[in-house]
Amino acid sequence: MMRLPVFEFRAPRTLQEAARILDGERANAMPLAGGTDLLPNMKRRQQVPRTLMSLRHIQSLSDIELSPSGLRLGACLTLAAIAGDPRFRNGLTALAQAASLVATPQIRNLATLGGNVCLDTRCNYYDQSYEWRKSINFCLKKDGTTCWVAPGSSKCMAVSSTDTGPALMALGARVRLVSHSGEREVLLSDLYNNDGIDYIKRRPDEILAEVLLDSLQGWKSTYWKLRRRGSFDFPVLSVAAAARLSRDKVVEGAHIVVGAAACQPLAAREAANSLLGRPLNQPAIEEAAALAARIAKPLDNTDFDMTWRKRVTAEFVGYALRELRGDDVRSERESFTRYAFD
Ligand SMILES: Cc1cc2nc3c(=O)[nH]c(=O)nc-3n(C[C@H](O)[C@H](O)[C@H](O)COP(=O)(O)OP(=O)(O)OC[C@H]3O[C@@H](n4cnc5c(N)ncnc54)[C@H](O)[C@@H]3O)c2cc1C
Ligand code: SF4
Repeated sequence: MMRLPVFEFRAPRTLQEAARILDGERANAMPLAGGTDLLPNMKRRQQVPRTLMSLRHIQSLSDIELSPSGLRLGACLTLAAIAGDPRFRNGLTALAQAASLVATPQIRNLATLGGNVCLDTRCNYYDQSYEWRKSINFCLKKDGTTCWVAPGSSKCMAVSSTDTGPALMALGARVRLVSHSGEREVLLSDLYNNDGIDYIKRRPDEILAEVLLDSLQGWKSTYWKLRRRGSFDFPVLSVAAAARLSRDKVVEGAHIVVGAAACQPLAAREAANSLLGRPLNQPAIEEAAALAARIAKPLDNTDFDMTWRKRVTAEFVGYALRELRGDDVRSERESFTRYAFD
């Protein structure tokens, strides 16, 4: 049995108190939300904070605030609450789909939106027990000096594996980061680094308090996820797409994001821009799909063959865009994910 290391536990009741604790502890403390990723990581000694600071007693972090101008989602909202809430549809469908495809129902009941956005990167050589990692002399990401995926590389290329990250990026979301010294808003598309170790711009003394979304009136969105097991598995490729179409189905706005194909979700800007002002017909879809696949650079450090994952990127973009124009693509979705979404 893998046991947790010894740690101090703090359970503040306000955001201000939480920010004060993180300010005092600096890099020695980590926020604990659902704990569904952090606690297994601690058991494997991938992360060994001296202090765990639970966010679950801070009431305001579970609020949803809907207004005509947009939406504020507390970071401690569970993924189950988001997936099951009928308000998260049309413009917000991608977020609800992404949340509903994370892990298992039991985990989604605990797992939070903030924890999913801040999720650690993953790699076959890293997501192993302490003894397994010790037997290969560890790796760059933790305790070692070599990257076993690219031994000549000085950079870790562990994969961004968050499901809601790409979806929120496609929806133009921002996050509110709060610390003892103040607060700031950061666009999701600016939050991540393409680096498997230093993968997020959140400072250790900052708490992700809210996810903010402008009104998505008139938009439709969708999320496609590739994983080995249809029941539950981390993404090894994903595509989030959002579009606003005119009455005659001409594209007025579009965002496409590729997930789990690098250390950060990748905005496929050229692909999305290629659609603007055009009807969402087959040539337009194929062009955008090819452009999006070009930026996906999956590596051999997660499940499935990497060249196949790159090819699937183009297919997923095609399915996503066809779905956004109103095609029935349920059978394609089920063939990949064994999953249907109402
Ligand atoms: C079997 C299994 C399958 C899984 N499958 C998937 C999957 O398919 N897709 C997927 O995306 N994830 C998956 N996960 C990982 C995890 O369950 C989810 O990512 C979950 O959403 C993490 O949220 P949490 O609240 O449990 O985060 P925690 O584990 O509590 O925290 C995760 C990280 O975020 C930080 N953090 C949490 N909240 C905040 C905050 N508000 N502010 C600042 N930092 C914060 C923590 O310090 C930690 O570094 C899986 C996990 C397991 C065990
Ligand atoms: S990409 Fe390399 S350094 Fe990063 S976790 Fe994998 S083996 Fe370790």
